[in-house]
Amino acid sequence: MIARAALALLIALALPAAAQESEPVAPGIWLIEGGHEPGRQPDGNSVLIEGPHGLLLVDTGRHASHADKIEAAIAARGKPLVRIVNTHWHLDHVSGNLTLKAKHPGVRVSASDAIDEALTGFLKRSADSARPALEAGKIPEPMASEVRGDLATYARGSELRPDDAVRKDVTIDAGGRKLELRLARHAATAGDVWLYDPSSRVLVAGDLVTDPVPFLDTACPAGWLRALDALAATPFVTLIPGHGKPMSRLVFQSWQSRFARFLDCARGKLKPSYCTTQMFDSTSREVPADQLRVLTMGSYYVERIRSGELDKNCPR
Ligand SMILES: [Zn+2]
Repeated sequence: MIARAALALLIALALPAAAQESEPVAPGIWLIEGGHEPGRQPDGNSVLIEGPHGLLLVDTGRHASHADKIEAAIAARGKPLVRIVNTHWHLDHVSGNLTLKAKHPGVRVSASDAIDEALTGFLKRSADSARPALEAGKIPEPMASEVRGDLATYARGSELRPDDAVRKDVTIDAGGRKLELRLARHAATAGDVWLYDPSSRVLVAGDLVTDPVPFLDTACPAGWLRALDALAATPFVTLIPGHGKPMSRLVFQSWQSRFARFLDCARGKLKPSYCTTQMFDSTSREVPADQLRVLTMGSYYVERIRSGELDKNCPR
């Protein structure tokens, strides 16, 4: 009896934690929030959308622990996973495709074709510089394990290509639920896909919106601003960013204007740390590691914008 009572208590304690792993955002829409632990690579947010006959998943994260949370959310719905949408090819959004496709053989992947160029460009260059650094012991743990994981994913890069390339705005049927996929060329990457659900007025933005700092490594800044205008022109009430918590329209508008001011500041002559703290308010963050990350990343991006390097990602 005591053992049974103890087991019941353990289950009761375990329930709230499990429930938090996928968070309801609107009827039939759940967020599986990505994480970013210090010294590790991030996972992007994943969003599960339920139709009458099946499920659609936006983005698949990077780590096995994130894929486990996705699988738990899928199992809780008890319907087949019929489609994955990748908002963009960054490894914190697509790596989980490999395990999910193996577990759900009927699933089809929709994404832009920008990954084709990334596999021979950005991702190849990253892998080529990571391998010797890793072999020379220049990357400390736990980041070394993260890099080994990304290299293993990159080695299977062709499996990350979409089954159905998104080359223009399209309406799709996901398990009987009509959803709109929109394509933004030359924004956070050469091809970003975002999703709008007219019935709930939820918009899934991918990394076109990320809290706190935008990831500008593969960005065309001017195209990104245009993409944000397209998001703003949609009558959404809730926006799910690529990283961070869901946003109301007001919160998004504030983020959008701070992002535009950050780009302006980065093109000027003010100190990089000034641009970053003014726009992304690192000091208000409670966790010191988060403050440092915001400052470091923001200032790094200011340098890259100021040098004109990111404009090379824009069409000529
Ligand atoms: Zn991301």
